[in-house]
Amino acid sequence: MDCIFCKIIAGEIPSARVYEDEYTYAFYDIEPQAPVHVLVVPKQHVTNVIEGAQAPGMMQHLADAVARVVELEGLQQSGFRTVMNTGADARQSVQHLHVHVLGGHPLNLTMG
Ligand code: 5GP
Ligand code: ZN
Repeated sequence: MDCIFCKIIAGEIPSARVYEDEYTYAFYDIEPQAPVHVLVVPKQHVTNVIEGAQAPGMMQHLADAVARVVELEGLQQSGFRTVMNTGADARQSVQHLHVHVLGGHPLNLTMG
């Protein structure tokens, strides 16, 4: 499948790993919108949160991984934003479910 995030998970495209477990992979966004900008993705390919909700356990695993990333990046006290873009109006550019985790400064009302 021609999916850039599947290739990142498989190690075919290099990425800067933040966290990984059996179900999820987290890595730094290549075009950070904030001092901390991590993408958390399920290892199983689904397109978006609607499909993800149909895969048993997937959203829970993603939330668990977000919590680990927040801990690893030291964002618990300062706060952070999670974003999941779906479809054209949200300008979703990669069709593999991903949670943006943004933080490290006071965030503005665009994404980061
Ligand atoms: P979306 O717009 O689909 O919500 O977010 C996709 C994100 O993936 C963007 O923030 C973009 O910078 C990031 N991205 C796209 N290609 C790559 C890549 O090859 N490596 C990394 N680390 N991030 C990528
Ligand atoms: Zn994929």
